[in-house]
Amino acid sequence: MKFSWKILLCSLITMAAAFGIGGYFFVNDVFKASLEREIGQATDDSNILKFAFETAALNIPSKYDMLQNSVIKEIGANLENSGQGSRRFLRLSDEDQKVLYASEGFVEDTLLLSDIQEQTRAYQIIRPDRRYYVQTGIMVHALDRVLYLETMRDVTEVYAERARGFAVYRGLMLLILICSSVVMYIVSYWLTKPIRLLTQAARKMTAGDYSCRAEQISEDEMGRLTMDFNHMANVVEDNIHKLEEEVRAREDFIAAFSHELKTPLTAVIGYADMLRSRKLDEEKHFLSANYIYTEGKRLEAMSLRLLDIIVTRRYHLEPQDTEVESLFAYLEEIYAEKKEIRVVFQYEPGRIQVEANLLKSVLLNLTVNACKASEAGGMVEVFGRNEEDGYCFAVKDYGTGISPEECRKITEAFYMVDKSRSRSHNGAGLGLALCVEILKLHGSELVIESTPGVGSCFHFQIPGKGTDSRETKGET
Ligand code: ADP
Repeated sequence: MKFSWKILLCSLITMAAAFGIGGYFFVNDVFKASLEREIGQATDDSNILKFAFETAALNIPSKYDMLQNSVIKEIGANLENSGQGSRRFLRLSDEDQKVLYASEGFVEDTLLLSDIQEQTRAYQIIRPDRRYYVQTGIMVHALDRVLYLETMRDVTEVYAERARGFAVYRGLMLLILICSSVVMYIVSYWLTKPIRLLTQAARKMTAGDYSCRAEQISEDEMGRLTMDFNHMANVVEDNIHKLEEEVRAREDFIAAFSHELKTPLTAVIGYADMLRSRKLDEEKHFLSANYIYTEGKRLEAMSLRLLDIIVTRRYHLEPQDTEVESLFAYLEEIYAEKKEIRVVFQYEPGRIQVEANLLKSVLLNLTVNACKASEAGGMVEVFGRNEEDGYCFAVKDYGTGISPEECRKITEAFYMVDKSRSRSHNGAGLGLALCVEILKLHGSELVIESTPGVGSCFHFQIPGKGTDSRETKGET
């Protein structure tokens, strides 16, 4: 059953119960008040008759000392007809509860007589011939006689009034329920609209339309639910895009990997085939063997780099307190002998929390890349300085530079700006990807600033405090 129908049904049941119970008590209260009034009226009438009877008994000249039964009947008949406009119903019984006089149509049973006491009035509701009466009974003292006087008052109209009250109330309730059903249907339809909108949006999302959002039409709890749903949908959409991005990156990676593998392998197979199938002169033999060797070396370097990246991704870092001087000393030692490119080191002493070997690898990669990008006789500068939030390293060159578009791609695995130049330097486009992974482990990020034809600066900051700033060292 639909939620809106449930709301409608619940409210109708509640309204019907409330109206039903309320109406029942209301009509019944009115009825009880009317009945009480009629009973009061009946007992008053009974008192009046008692008084009239006693007076009449006193005024009738009696031949005997006691009141004769015939006299009692005579008084009874007179009292019955003395009513204004309407006939009275009365019954007179003697001390032994034997009926002396009874109006025509008076009930026959004499059960009430046993309830009549001195000074006590008795009454009961009786229903002879489908009509309702209040039957009252009272003791009458006339001369030496003690008699019982009973009366009957027709109260059928009070009961009929109650039945009419119920009928009118039922009709009214039915009308109200029909009208309120229409109103409640509109209200419940309006109340459940946000749910319908949410369901539609959820279905569209399930069908693959991740950009679909539910329209927020209120500021209440349902509105907040819609807001939360949309927020959740945003997060889900972002995550799906990220996953798609990741899958695409992996596919690109596999494609690039296969390509990088295929090129040297084709050459190796080709030269090896040449060596085994033909007799070559000494020089060609050497060149072929050398080609196989260098391509093999390149493959080896590439597989080692790949292994480094994979291991680094799963690596659990255990940083040690390291003096930056030791890192620079490592680079200085490598570039100590005179080379085509002049490497200049300029750094402030400091202490950082890193894994020294990993950071050395990053600095060496960046410096090697900077040297590769520089012309012979060029200069590469490696800086280190204390900053407010950590220690900053920078490797600067005045070489080829990189275009902004390529800057975004060069950290991807196997991406090379100039493939032939990179390959000639034994590169496979994996160095920067490895640097990024290592820096990620240290909570850092590689920033590239470069202008084609002017040069590049690769820098990153190792976060942390407690740096030591002594005099700046400079060395060439
Ligand atoms: P490789 O191992 O082939 O050098 P890297 O991942 O280290 O691969 O570098 C990716 C590409 O980025 C290289 O092919 C190179 O063209 C470019 N590159 C890296 N550093 C620099 C730099 N300082 N100046 C210009 N190009 C650079």
